Amino acid sequence: MATKTLMAFLAARPNPDRCDCGAEIPLQVLVTCAYYVGRFCPNCGPFSRESGYYRTRAEAEKALATGMFSR
Ligand SMILES: [Zn+2]
Repeated sequence: MATKTLMAFLAARPNPDRCDCGAEIPLQVLVTCAYYVGRFCPNCGPFSRESGYYRTRAEAEKALATGMFSR
């Protein structure tokens, strides 16, 4: 159920899986002052933040895995 919901969620996303420069930018757990789910371009730097902030990587990874996150 969670996987199906996530797939539908991702399919509906207007966000690109590639940066304007052509690099792939999949959703992943990123960290600045806290952990979050977002996209990062290896060429251009942080691309977007898709979630709120989490205190631990485990929380952020759980949110990414389940798709249960929002800004
Ligand atoms: Zn880029």
